[in-house]
Amino acid sequence: MSTTAPESLGDAARSFIASAPHKLLIGADWVDAADGRTFETIDPATGNPICAVAHAGAEDVDRAVRAARAAFEGPWSQLPAAGRSLLMSRLADLIEANAEELAQLESLDNGKPVTIAAAVDVPLSVAHLRYYAGWPTKIEGETIPVSWPSMFTYTLKEPVGVCGQIIPWNFPLLMAAWKLSPALAAGCTVVLKPAEQTPLTALRLGQLVQEAGFPEGVVNIVTGDGETGAAIVDHPGVDKIAFTGSTAVGREIGEKCGRSLKRVTLELGGKSPNIILPDADLDAAINGSFQAIYFNTGQACQAGSRLFVHKDHYDTVVSALAAAARGAKLGPGLDPSTQLGPVVSAEQYERVMGYIESGREQGAEVVAGGSGANGRPGYFIEPTLFTGVTDDMRIAREEIFGPVLVAMPYEDLDEVARRANDTEYGLAAGVWTRDVASAHRLARLLRAGSVYINVWGPSDAAAPFGGFKASGIGREMGHANLDAYLEVKTVWTSLA
Ligand code: ADP
Ligand code: MG
Repeated sequence: MSTTAPESLGDAARSFIASAPHKLLIGADWVDAADGRTFETIDPATGNPICAVAHAGAEDVDRAVRAARAAFEGPWSQLPAAGRSLLMSRLADLIEANAEELAQLESLDNGKPVTIAAAVDVPLSVAHLRYYAGWPTKIEGETIPVSWPSMFTYTLKEPVGVCGQIIPWNFPLLMAAWKLSPALAAGCTVVLKPAEQTPLTALRLGQLVQEAGFPEGVVNIVTGDGETGAAIVDHPGVDKIAFTGSTAVGREIGEKCGRSLKRVTLELGGKSPNIILPDADLDAAINGSFQAIYFNTGQACQAGSRLFVHKDHYDTVVSALAAAARGAKLGPGLDPSTQLGPVVSAEQYERVMGYIESGREQGAEVVAGGSGANGRPGYFIEPTLFTGVTDDMRIAREEIFGPVLVAMPYEDLDEVARRANDTEYGLAAGVWTRDVASAHRLARLLRAGSVYINVWGPSDAAAPFGGFKASGIGREMGHANLDAYLEVKTVWTSLA
């Protein structure tokens, strides 16, 4: 198997890649897939394979679930709460100590700028683990004042059990941290499946989990594609599924979990509206709206992909955004001067270019970008801005998950609230204004799990994040996500 390691990688990242083919973490061991299958993870900046990774099938998933069950019933449940805290803190420290390597691996595998991986993905992963590391000693039940004489009634919060966690490719390490942290804090054990496009940082994380000293089987990592994910969802030994990914796959997983009555949380797609009011600080609104869509090459579930601009400022905002889009520097993630990396895969490239084509066909106008790689290798797409868009066009309704923004004018606040909510999604919404009443009026009107006022997409482990409507079920972050990994048990004791 050929492995490629670009020149700009440090020794640690280089030697991790050279240790391929990468195996599955099941229990205490790194093992090949039972049937020996592997797949190649691709460098999106070149389209070349990086290295080979084991492709887990149903038999491997079964072994991983058994290892997770044994750990759940054994050493993990016997460890005091403070012991879980300590291990999680150690894991956070180890991620921090290996930050440069992790940022480079993330950049290589996903395509994102290494500067962003180092400034956002890795430190937020550390912060997430540290936040949840504080929880194990604070998971408390309640005494309940029932109206029975001589009765003592209290609740226990118990871990749900073995959790299957399936994550996407847009923030690979961070999504692993989002999923693992609340599960481990609650006392659950995990079978984690990274996306087939970006398995590397989760595999490196598996090594760090071992180095931190977690008992074997608490965290199992199986690499593979949708078939591997489906084997996790279908496994009767899994108590809960946590999924982040496309709404289409989320619906399928939700349906299956409904039938098997597994606990399930889903963090899915979006088509988030971003609204610039007449009195907004226009410079801040333009910069924020640019980041809202083009950050991570538009590959963020909360991307502000529908921009509504008050008609008085529409031309100004559109021309400023178009100029900024034309000026953005596209390049390989590992080049420190890159502002926008490629999209993650050939499949994603085709999908996004297909949407750009559909926008043109349906009569919208490209005012910036609109082109793909233009003969260079890799999956580069220019940051693209459409005007002349109507609310019913596909580019205004469907999640593109790429660097494509539609800008639409509006006249009044109730009109824009109605149009903003006219979507199957409800993940996030943004409002740019200096008027407090308009800001909070819109915050109430908008049907979305997060509303950003004069900012786009801040994230903190303590602040709940998730979707209304087809954007998902349940919340990530904060104690809301901890609760998703806990069962409530009510204990009745007769004192008579
Ligand atoms: P995308 O289309 O952007 O790749 P997906 O929703 O297909 O997003 O993928 C997100 C995660 O879900 C990945 O880890 C992927 O392997 C996994 N996955 C894809 N299809 C299924 C499925 N049918 N069941 C379970 N997991 C799946
Ligand atoms: Mg890759």
